[in-house]
Amino acid sequence: MNLPGSVTIVEVGPRDGLQNEPDFVPTERKIELIERLAEAGFKRIEVASFVHPKAVPQMRDSAEVVGRIRRQPGVVYSALVPNEKGLERALASGVGEIALFVSASETHNRENVGMATASSLEGFRKIAETALAGGIRIRGYVVTAFGCPYEGTVPPENVERIVDAYRSLGTHEVALGDTTGMANPSQVSRMLDRILPRLGTTGLALHFHDTRGTALANVLAALQHEVTVFDGSIGGLGGCPYAPGASGNVATEDLVNMLEEMGIRTGIDLRKLIDCARYTRGIVGRSLPGHLATAGMIRWAGDPTNTEDPRQNVPGQRPK
Ligand code: ZN
Repeated sequence: MNLPGSVTIVEVGPRDGLQNEPDFVPTERKIELIERLAEAGFKRIEVASFVHPKAVPQMRDSAEVVGRIRRQPGVVYSALVPNEKGLERALASGVGEIALFVSASETHNRENVGMATASSLEGFRKIAETALAGGIRIRGYVVTAFGCPYEGTVPPENVERIVDAYRSLGTHEVALGDTTGMANPSQVSRMLDRILPRLGTTGLALHFHDTRGTALANVLAALQHEVTVFDGSIGGLGGCPYAPGASGNVATEDLVNMLEEMGIRTGIDLRKLIDCARYTRGIVGRSLPGHLATAGMIRWAGDPTNTEDPRQNVPGQRPK
């Protein structure tokens, strides 16, 4: 297998994960989570969303969050931006990158933002101009790129058209999102055969949700195409807490564990990342889908300096 030697992980939990939490997470805790993630080694963190505060009340403190983070040098803090108003607020808060989003499915886009995909793309033109003029780089999300909960199959031509539109807007990266976890590895592989000639591996990120348990398999399929940017959400935070099984992005700590064990460098300190996942569990007050926060690092097994009781991870044995 011809796999990349290192990859970049974009942590999206503070935005894609937290935005689904029904109970408001205090601003201080959001900030602490983001600071802990930067401390664990992430160079890119999606920290906020400048959608209308009434649409996503959880993100209503986005300006304060972005404004108050203790910035680590070399870390890019980004935010989701739906329109020009959102861009104004994002720029005023001091983000280093914005993310635009449009669905590959017409129905999903209407449900999500109340307009046709062509209107969304048209609206991005002014936003992109202003952002680029201000030296802010742009990520473009293709939402429901691998399937739509309303329409089912999404024609790959839709994805190609949006990718081309983003390129003409001057985005530095396009992120293909499997928003409701419908992708499988063969489909990912076929999609990449079509999209990579348009973007190259440096302009492409993959954003997998683990709704049906296929996220890590999809990552492996993308690695075989030498894709090097993947999104993850700490703890696997995200999805709808009221709908069991509607889980969020692939848990970042599970993703980092798999990659590092395969010899693919991520630059992330897995021990600190597991602490972040446990902190996140504390924030939301329930268990999360990620495995590593419970199972621990593989390296801890048989390590005499390890302070974790390895027996807590052995089935049938109780921790002391
Ligand atoms: Zn997502």
